[in-house]
Amino acid sequence: MRVLLVEDDRMIGQAVQTALRQDGYAVDWVRDAESADTALRAGRFDLALLDLGLPGRDGVSLLRGLRARGDATPVLIVTARDDVQDRVGGLDAGADDYLVKPFDLDELGARMRALLRRSAGRGAAVFEHRGVRVDPATREVTQDGKPVALSPREFAVLEALMLRPGAVLSRSQLEDRLYGWDEPVESNAVEVYIHGLRRKLGHDFIQNARGVGYYLHKPDARGDEA
Ligand code: CA
Repeated sequence: MRVLLVEDDRMIGQAVQTALRQDGYAVDWVRDAESADTALRAGRFDLALLDLGLPGRDGVSLLRGLRARGDATPVLIVTARDDVQDRVGGLDAGADDYLVKPFDLDELGARMRALLRRSAGRGAAVFEHRGVRVDPATREVTQDGKPVALSPREFAVLEALMLRPGAVLSRSQLEDRLYGWDEPVESNAVEVYIHGLRRKLGHDFIQNARGVGYYLHKPDARGDEA
């Protein structure tokens, strides 16, 4: 999952970036609204964490512009502004959720997972597909009830594929979910993680659309899914 972090406070930004990277998110961190705007126009993010008090243009103005041009990227406002009017204003400007500083990193993580579920059109907190069960909250993976140990990046690849079974993800789309701007992309990394996942989950679990990318069979492809 790729996250845009918009935060001008160095300590908070550093803490959030470090925590999210440990959880396997690709995090791009910008310090002002103009840089955030440029980033959002240039690339696709699964989620944006938006501070409101920023140098220059503020977060609400950025958010209004984003929604005005039809960008539906889920936005979670994370701010010290705790007035009811600020919360109402932020949500009405197009935010999907609102978290007041100081906040607990565990709560931030849970709210992010809830938004990502909703934006993928899923109600359930756990992904299940062909006997494989992925819990984004605990990061536990089982296959037919037996635990499967995955590296954080193998987990990120599997989670991305399980969000929409049947959808083909290209190598660069998967790389986008694995690496932030300032992290070097290892060549063949995606192939290595796919190979590892197939070794652990069975070769047939992940399909290869030659020259296009990777996908999971749609749930009804074998008629074995509810
Ligand atoms: Ca701020």
